[in-house]
Amino acid sequence: MFRVGVGFDAHRFDPEGKRPLKLGGVVVSTELSLKGHSDADVLLHALTDALLGAAGEPDIGELFPPSDPRWKNADSALFLKEALRRVRKKGFEVINADCVVVCDRPKISPVKGKIVENLARLLGVPTDRVNLKGKTTEGLYSPEGISVICTVLLGTVK
Ligand code: MG
Repeated sequence: MFRVGVGFDAHRFDPEGKRPLKLGGVVVSTELSLKGHSDADVLLHALTDALLGAAGEPDIGELFPPSDPRWKNADSALFLKEALRRVRKKGFEVINADCVVVCDRPKISPVKGKIVENLARLLGVPTDRVNLKGKTTEGLYSPEGISVICTVLLGTVK
């Protein structure tokens, strides 16, 4: 059996933010920062929600509410790991993931390889099963932050 999931997330830039910008668990800028209760890793949040959605689990906001002080400045890899645990508990494995990072800054191409490597490591799949695209909006929308859309495909473990 196959299951597909989609995840979306968006975070605003924090002009006064001190926290370095993390995407997919990789620090990609020390000049830009995103607002958020956890470490604001918008890519890991969207990917986590795609995994949870594919497995028919509650979404990231339900499992890790921003009102809970436990998740303040939390490493978002924790959220992804919990989503994976739920995926595997239901007898699924990750087949592939495809993610689009929508932002005008920072540039994604120089950090793409590093992010893909880290996502593959976190998901426990080879790097050729993770795809990442950076898309600018030409200023049309979201110049104030970063949005991410991810899809994942799960399959039942034989
Ligand atoms: Mg988020």
